Amino acid sequence: MPELPEVETVRRTLLLKLKDETIKDIDIRYPNIIKTDLKSFTSVLINQTIHDIDRMGKYLIFILDQHVIVMHLRMEGKFYIKSHEPYDKHEHIIFKFKSGMELRYHDVRKFGTMHVLSKDHYLDEYPLSELGLEPKDLNPKDFYQRIHRSERPIKASLLDQHIISGLGNIYVDETLFLAKVHPTRLSKNITKKEAESLVSAATSVLAKAVRLGGTTIRSYTSSLGVHGRFQNELNVHTKKGEPCPICGTPIIKIKVAGRGSYVCPSCQT
Ligand SMILES: [Zn+2]
Repeated sequence: MPELPEVETVRRTLLLKLKDETIKDIDIRYPNIIKTDLKSFTSVLINQTIHDIDRMGKYLIFILDQHVIVMHLRMEGKFYIKSHEPYDKHEHIIFKFKSGMELRYHDVRKFGTMHVLSKDHYLDEYPLSELGLEPKDLNPKDFYQRIHRSERPIKASLLDQHIISGLGNIYVDETLFLAKVHPTRLSKNITKKEAESLVSAATSVLAKAVRLGGTTIRSYTSSLGVHGRFQNELNVHTKKGEPCPICGTPIIKIKVAGRGSYVCPSCQT
């Protein structure tokens, strides 16, 4: 599953290739990906030019003349840039540009979403209106306030995009390790000091992963030819049985919030 750093890599790569491209036509082969009015999707977007591509959390935002397209890749969504080749059966939405280039949205699981919204008020509309702040913008006191009555494990709170956006399974494991917090701890038992450590660990984990282009592991492979290098920096995620880089205790794998979670049982309490 692509997480914030991988989506940021996709954003940067797409922006280099698609800036100033004008949409000529759109081929919709699996309409369920489009969550706003299907009938007007193509007619509204034809002749609009891509001026910028932005990102909030794990959402990509294509900024056009009067509208934006807000996209979420969910489990398996990826983009290919092609032209004139036969369609693959997993290519569901094809944006055709006046230059002849095509942007093809490919999604084996078909969980991805696209919303076309007005450029004037898309931030106030679903889905972005529901999104929490990214760790770098989040005040640790606000984070503490939002979790301190919750009975859920802290891992579940960190994965909740309404509370804090941009962290998925990989980066939550790394964040909890750096903050020395065990993923099964109940959110209501996290102290103010630990909330501060968690926000600061999440900020540095994401910044480093963005700098390295994300993590390329079997759950998400790059379609645009860009490979991340953060997999070389992982402390605990995927490291079951290997020694903890701080204390040498073997890393264990447990299930928390329905997700495989990697933990140092001695550093994380
Ligand atoms: Zn350890």
